[in-house]
Amino acid sequence: MPRAISARRPKTKPKLGQHFLTSDDVAARTVGALGDVSESTVLEIGPGRGILTSLLARRTPRLIAVELDRVLAAQLRLKFGMARNVEILEADVLAIDFDSLFGPRPGLGRPGIEFKPQPVRVVGNLPYYITSDILLRLFEFSKYFESIVIMVQREVADRIAAEPGGSEYGILSATAQLYARVEKLFIVPPGAFSPPPKVHSAVLRLTIDPQQEKLGVAGDGFIDFLRLSFGQKRKTLWNNLRGKYEEAGLKRALAQANVKPTARAETLDLAESAAVYRALRNPHEGS
Ligand code: SAM
Repeated sequence: MPRAISARRPKTKPKLGQHFLTSDDVAARTVGALGDVSESTVLEIGPGRGILTSLLARRTPRLIAVELDRVLAAQLRLKFGMARNVEILEADVLAIDFDSLFGPRPGLGRPGIEFKPQPVRVVGNLPYYITSDILLRLFEFSKYFESIVIMVQREVADRIAAEPGGSEYGILSATAQLYARVEKLFIVPPGAFSPPPKVHSAVLRLTIDPQQEKLGVAGDGFIDFLRLSFGQKRKTLWNNLRGKYEEAGLKRALAQANVKPTARAETLDLAESAAVYRALRNPHEGS
């Protein structure tokens, strides 16, 4: 019986975070937040049915849109087949090698002249289940990117934009703010999507502005240090760090950085975290 069969069928759950934007107004505001892209390459993450892609294709000289879903990627290729400025890549954005996409082309560099990447602007109504992974990946290749406009779950946007001292400030806020200036632009209600998600969304603009040099923490180790500092949310900095550092050195470093051992990582701004990290690495600096 068809009715009995459909009653037993499990509710379809959107796969790959597929909530498609249906509001032209929200699409226009999102693309508008990228600014003038008439001379920029744009990378779109998860173009889906192409609502942002169509607007972008008219504005940028080069659009690279990365879509994991095979059927959607094929439909996009058909739709934008005539647009010579649009490349549809059927791929997992987390597996894209941005060096080969945006880095120097072998054989094209001139000896003695340093390669300067053309800054790329990134946009996407992200698949929410991998928001942090996508951001970390973009930060890893931040030298290629100028700004990132993303639609994410509202609570995640609040965390990315949170200031030190508040309950939402954590490793995601610290990492994002280490690489970029974060602006929360506007909220998007569930009704702007099909199917509607259970949560509100928000659009953020991240203007890439890496702080590592300024903070004296260039190199890979500082992110690992932040991860360790925020390790267990309710623990003090002392308790999160003492598994890795010996106590006398840790005590001295915290004193040198003027940070109380009872402080929690979420109360420290990036400059204070960097001061602790530097004092642990170079015990004699500043003493
Ligand atoms: N941009 C479209 C829009 O606004 O209507 C679609 C947004 S939908 C929230 C997220 C899109 O990301 C889907 O099309 C989904 O197939 C795609 N996607 C999911 N995981 C992906 C991944 N790892 N790499 C690339 N695209 C992915």
